Amino acid sequence: MTCREVERELVAYQFGALEDDARRRVEAHLVACSACVGAFVQVKRAVELGEQGARPSDAAKRRLRRAVARELGVREAKPTAWERALAVGIAACLVLVAGAATRALTSAPGAPPHALSDDTFSR
Ligand SMILES: [Zn+2]
Repeated sequence: MTCREVERELVAYQFGALEDDARRRVEAHLVACSACVGAFVQVKRAVELGEQGARPSDAAKRRLRRAVARELGVREAKPTAWERALAVGIAACLVLVAGAATRALTSAPGAPPHALSDDTFSR
């Protein structure tokens, strides 16, 4: 395994999402390569502190998703066009409700935006 290959696997390794074979190869490399141990420490710190910068490869993300799905016992499924449309509809309704609620709360006399009316300053 090259350093480059190991670096791509470090996030998945950190989360224990590598297959046994890949995990053993990463560990064999880490034992022999201080540069990759340094990279792993950075990944570990970024994950634990929520820092930006460490980006798992697409393959690692797929493996992570599969591992999580397996762990939770759910089938990996993409939303159908109908489900996407429903989600967009629900989001649009929430935006409208939030807008209507904001208007209802702020348009009454004495409501926050109008609390300091022109009268307040002319007295
Ligand atoms: Zn290395």
